[in-house]
Amino acid sequence: MYNLHSHTFLSDGDLLPSEVAVRYHDKGYSIIAITDHADYSNIKQITKSIVEFCRRWPKDTGITVLAGIELTHLPPQQFKPLAALARRAGAQIIIAHGETPVEPVAKDTNHLSLLADIDILAHPGLISDSDAELAARRGIFLEVTSRSGHNQTNEHVVKQARKFSAKLILNNDSHSPEDIITPQQLIKVGRDAGLTQVEIDKIYTDVKEFLNKKERR
Ligand SMILES: [Zn+2]
Ligand SMILES: [Zn+2]
Repeated sequence: MYNLHSHTFLSDGDLLPSEVAVRYHDKGYSIIAITDHADYSNIKQITKSIVEFCRRWPKDTGITVLAGIELTHLPPQQFKPLAALARRAGAQIIIAHGETPVEPVAKDTNHLSLLADIDILAHPGLISDSDAELAARRGIFLEVTSRSGHNQTNEHVVKQARKFSAKLILNNDSHSPEDIITPQQLIKVGRDAGLTQVEIDKIYTDVKEFLNKKERR
């Protein structure tokens, strides 16, 4: 059981990374990623902090913590250089903060982030045909989210992924203790977005394969 999108007080979350890990473990997860919001102002510092935290997190805690980052509200041309910088600094999971319907995200964010070295396009809102097709071609996950507001377009994201055979991922985008729902509740978010059991199983297979590849690197 995984969740590859979570925030700590290294950006706008409420909790220390250790507490995020402990609380996810308590809810039944075995692997998470810490993916705090970043732009040019903080990317070097927080990537360094998260990478060090993950490197020192003991192997015998029952939960694996991956180092990540969420590139957020960037001028869209900055996705490429910042994804490359985060990757060089050791980020394993790179998320782009997509064109959610509830925030004024810059136009072309979905498109230009999909051309950068990202793993997941979070809450891509009313993603277009051409961008869903681009995500499929580049093997980038489109996110179905439990986060209130961002979740308004989950059904559209599912339909677009189906239409172009893009990979989907279910994520929590947690900021506070109340956001840390159980894996079963996260699966229900997928069902509410219109996913069938077969499609949900496929998500877990795809994510597992993706994580295995990361580990081999
Ligand atoms: Zn946030
Ligand atoms: Zn987020």
